[in-house]
Amino acid sequence: YQGFTGRSTNEVLQLYSAHGQQQTLQRSSVVTQLHRAIQRLKQDLKSLHSFALELSKDFQHQCKTYLYQVLTAVQRIQLQNEAMQMFQIKAFDLEQSLQEVTERYEKEKHKRRALHNSLVELRGNIRVHCRIRPLLPFGTAAGHTIPQDRQRNFSEKVAYAADDETVLVKCNRPGHASINKTFQFERVYNASESQDTVFADVAPLLTSLLDGYNVCIMAYGQTGSGKTYTMLGPQLEENFAFSIEDESELGIIPRATQEVFRLISEKPPGSYWVEVSVVEVYNNEIFDLLAKDSCGRVFGVKRDVVTTREGKSDVPLLTYETVENASEFLHLVNKGLQLRVRHPTLVHAHSSRSHLVVTLTITTIVSGDNFGISWEDELTSQKLNKEVSCTFPQKMRENKSTFSSRASSPAQFETTEKLKQIKTRLQLVDLAGSECVGMSGVTGAALRETSFINRSLSALADVLGAIAEQRSHVPYRNSKLTHLLQDAVGGDAKLLVMLCISPDQKYLAESMQSLGFGTRARQVQRGQVKKKNLPVPSKAK
Ligand code: ADP
Ligand code: MG
Repeated sequence: YQGFTGRSTNEVLQLYSAHGQQQTLQRSSVVTQLHRAIQRLKQDLKSLHSFALELSKDFQHQCKTYLYQVLTAVQRIQLQNEAMQMFQIKAFDLEQSLQEVTERYEKEKHKRRALHNSLVELRGNIRVHCRIRPLLPFGTAAGHTIPQDRQRNFSEKVAYAADDETVLVKCNRPGHASINKTFQFERVYNASESQDTVFADVAPLLTSLLDGYNVCIMAYGQTGSGKTYTMLGPQLEENFAFSIEDESELGIIPRATQEVFRLISEKPPGSYWVEVSVVEVYNNEIFDLLAKDSCGRVFGVKRDVVTTREGKSDVPLLTYETVENASEFLHLVNKGLQLRVRHPTLVHAHSSRSHLVVTLTITTIVSGDNFGISWEDELTSQKLNKEVSCTFPQKMRENKSTFSSRASSPAQFETTEKLKQIKTRLQLVDLAGSECVGMSGVTGAALRETSFINRSLSALADVLGAIAEQRSHVPYRNSKLTHLLQDAVGGDAKLLVMLCISPDQKYLAESMQSLGFGTRARQVQRGQVKKKNLPVPSKAK
């Protein structure tokens, strides 16, 4: 109001109207600005709306796509499930047919084995089984001194049992010719197969023994390959005898004896008795390990082998001890084996330096009535009568009553004309080590041993070669070993060679040599082994 003081009303009115106009102008410009802002917001809203529309369309589209994908995936899973079920059914069917085929294969294999066995019997083939021993920790192969150049602290396996009839020798050492060779045998045992399993295959031969066949089981292989383990069982280091503590570890010789006595126990009492002889062939000399001096002490006596008029080999004056059970037998054999370290002429560094032949002679008493029925022909009968009279056991001849209580007394035999005897023989042989030992650097006793072992084993190979080629002359007499085993090797016995093999690379040459020997032995055909005439069982009476 101070400003209006002194002014006229008109001037005041004019001032008022100018002020109003200014305010109106200001308001209208604000409205315009607001209007513009509203326009912009409207446009933004429009574009937002269309964006939202697009988004929702897009979302719907994507939803559809995903749904479709989920549906196809579900369908695919369903299809896969069905396929899986089909596969499961197919797998089950296949499993069943595989089982059937396996069963059929096992049956066929059994049949094939039986046929093969008959063929072996008909041809008089030598059966060859091969046992691969486990890898042993360094230096534990008993008594086997490994040459310096071959000593290594590790062993590499090169011989395997590919299956129960095949040995595979595989070696790819750099700097050596590579070997990949298989060998077939009647039976192959891998390192984990027990003494039980090995004996199970031998047992049928013992039934044959009591059925009237001679039987010979021979272990062949280099030193340390498991011959003595297989034939006798684990050895006791200090006395070369074998341990009879652990029954499951017993080898073929004690088990065979147990089995023979078991089979005899099933026969009529008094109809069988068993005698034992233990012979060692060392440096081409035969030693009777059961011979006794006047005080009854056991000591080794040199014996000779001769050919009888019937063309059989025989050891005159050889000691036969009658045994009544398996433990008596084990005791006797163990005593004989311990002798080897004590007797001056028999001292040798290791049991594998000599051949050991344990013979069980089983005498069957046959009554005359049965006798006649079972003879194949008169000639055989005459021959057998002769054989019986010349191989009458020493003890019986001396008329001592030390033989089996199961058997009738000798007097009875002499007075009862109708009673006859038939002898069958079980020869169990642990051959000397077949290693390829060079002669260089070997002197004295070792040189003699080695050359005799080499000669006797090559004589054995020569004999087999001559039989295989059906030569008119078979050189049995080239060595005491072949002369002693003449009948068994020549076709008078069912012969089983148990090849023992070390799986180690360092014995590759020896293993190949043994496998070669076994392969050649298998090819020998000796004609069907003759059965000694045994009585037809009581139904034939
Ligand atoms: P060889 O008589 O051929 O010289 P050994 O029978 O003395 O050989 O065996 C040598 C070593 O190998 C021994 O210590 C023996 O116990 C062991 N051995 C051999 N074969 C087997 C096997 N199948 N299982 C376990 N040990 C074995
Ligand atoms: Mg031995």
